[in-house]
Amino acid sequence: MPLFNDILDMIYPRYCMGCDSLLDSDDVVCFDCMDELPYTDFFKHDNNPIKEIFYGRIIIQHGGSLLFYTKESLTQRLIFNLKYENNHHAGKLIGILMAKELSSTDWINEIDVIIPMPMHRKKQRVRGYNQATIIAQSLSDNLNIPMNEEIIIKSIHTETQTHKTREERWQSMQHVFEVKDKNALAGKHILLVDDVITTGASIEACGNKILSIENTKLSIATAAYAL
Ligand SMILES: [Zn+2]
Repeated sequence: MPLFNDILDMIYPRYCMGCDSLLDSDDVVCFDCMDELPYTDFFKHDNNPIKEIFYGRIIIQHGGSLLFYTKESLTQRLIFNLKYENNHHAGKLIGILMAKELSSTDWINEIDVIIPMPMHRKKQRVRGYNQATIIAQSLSDNLNIPMNEEIIIKSIHTETQTHKTREERWQSMQHVFEVKDKNALAGKHILLVDDVITTGASIEACGNKILSIENTKLSIATAAYAL
């Protein structure tokens, strides 16, 4: 709804999420704050903390996070606005920046399809959208790689996992994802996209499902890496 958004911009001018300065209509972060974004540069290195998270758990070809996620950081504000404030512009920006980083890797052309981390339909109904899909769609648009958000679904709703041990989390995650069309993914290299990575438990569970399909390869890209 571009026209509707233009009208909204006239009524509600946008302010930089970093410093509150007034912005030109389509931005969410000003030039100065853009320069200050805490890039991890993980995509530039084949061995990085994201690859390390999954050592001995699942085999991933390539993996990385765009930004460091720390408390009170601009990354946190971008993610918060994307997740809870219905601010799709924040997700689009993340997708654009991620696409830029990924286009300079020597492997992005191997990716056949981008899949956003699935969200349970109940949760999505409440929120109205899946924030990982916003990032994945922007990434897809900017890299010209197809995105598919229907092929894998989260069929079991999981409660917050923070009180559980890693083993308990792993156990409870094993059957929550469902692949709707295995044939469509067979032989494909899939880039799984999520907003923030912490323990990697849900990525591992979803990744396991993907890797159980014949001849698939898995790579991972997340917007932010929580230390
Ligand atoms: Zn700013």
